[in-house]
Amino acid sequence: MKRSRIMALIRPTIMLDNITQIDGPFLRRHQIGALMLDVDNTLSLHGNPEPYEGIAAWVKRMRDIGVEMIIVSNNSRERVQPFADKLGIPCVGGGYKPLSKGMREAQAMLKTPKRHCAIVGDQLFTDIMGGNLYGITSILVTPYQLEDKTGFKIKRGLERGFLRRYRRAQNKNGGGGR
Ligand SMILES: [Mg+2]
Repeated sequence: MKRSRIMALIRPTIMLDNITQIDGPFLRRHQIGALMLDVDNTLSLHGNPEPYEGIAAWVKRMRDIGVEMIIVSNNSRERVQPFADKLGIPCVGGGYKPLSKGMREAQAMLKTPKRHCAIVGDQLFTDIMGGNLYGITSILVTPYQLEDKTGFKIKRGLERGFLRRYRRAQNKNGGGGR
């Protein structure tokens, strides 16, 4: 596959430092009514059963303004369900991102039409590529913690290269979203 084709597939629609930057005006500006949420390193530290600080309050803010939320994780249902219950959000485990399986399942549980849905996650090759292939807005957040497994290190190394290019392109275009 050509490099430019891969670049397009894993290019986030929007890049943020932290998921808690998502608020009402941001969602209105991008016409987003529902969020499909990654867990590990987006809402919690990898494998941690507790939401990261500020996440529970952010979820409440989102709920208060009527934003639909659903967790879509590649992690097992056993890991994801108790976590989702803590936040009071429905969930789909075994999502197989970047394949569409989990997002399709999630979409069926949402009232918001697909064109107003977005996926939020920390990985270019799962969350972002998944959202782009499925055809929804893809929002990249900075991972809370870098994993120390070798496979992850290789993937993060690749991501860094692509991210540098995206940031450069974004700065050239005067920054700010899409
Ligand atoms: Mg993740």
